[in-house]
Amino acid sequence: MRVSAVAACISLLFAFATPLQGPTRADTGPRDEATESFVRGFVRFLAYHEAGHMLMGQIADMNKDPNWTNSDREDYADRFALVLLAPDANDPDGVEEIISAAAGWLQVDSSIVRDEPHAPADVRAYEILCLLYGSDPVSFAEFAELAAEAAPGRDCAADYQAIDNDIDEVFRDWSGTYGIEIGIVYGPAGGGLEQARDFLARSGVMEDLKYDIEADYHLTHATTIQAVSCRGMANPDTFYTDRKRGATRDQDHFVISLCYEMIDDRLKHGMRGFEETAP
Ligand SMILES: [Zn+2]
Repeated sequence: MRVSAVAACISLLFAFATPLQGPTRADTGPRDEATESFVRGFVRFLAYHEAGHMLMGQIADMNKDPNWTNSDREDYADRFALVLLAPDANDPDGVEEIISAAAGWLQVDSSIVRDEPHAPADVRAYEILCLLYGSDPVSFAEFAELAAEAAPGRDCAADYQAIDNDIDEVFRDWSGTYGIEIGIVYGPAGGGLEQARDFLARSGVMEDLKYDIEADYHLTHATTIQAVSCRGMANPDTFYTDRKRGATRDQDHFVISLCYEMIDDRLKHGMRGFEETAP
């Protein structure tokens, strides 16, 4: 049953990623633009997922809750990302990016990932599709069949409402005042990672995340979103959230790290693997 959900997702992606007609910039053909949009959607989802972890540590102190397992927290971070990124149905770029995030997970071979607290990649994709549809079942009516296949028996609209309300209650600040500003750092990108750095800077993902978090959540601690080379780290092919301990607890520093390696890898991989299945 789920195989057809995958196929439908991919055809949706290709419907949105149709090469542009007319003149394009000389250095980026239509194919490049489709790839960039695809990678931007996936990278944006991962960055917002990490912001979910950051807020769980900084605002809600959910990381020490004994009733939560690591996989509960991972699922929550994914739902947090979806709620923040759920686009208006009449925003084609936003829809294309969030579908790209789902498609990006379908590209990952879950069987080779080990010791993974996150849900299997295909499950993460189905969750995105269900909640995206659930965010606005009227405008996203064309996704109804896809959501039903991705999440059989789920009431995606009720689930979306529940997580949306929960995030408002747990994290949201309604005072209208700003907390501590988020710092943004683009670290050095040697060794062939320059393209990934340029892509990330052009995408505006880090700047958008800073703006979205500062606007709705009152940060109480120093927080940085940094783009770095993760060479030598345990998993250079992903993004990280760290809590760096300060002299006292209120001096702790929260850091979201976006690895150039991961972005570089995705840019090289592009939508490969999907072309054969495209209609
Ligand atoms: Zn995570």
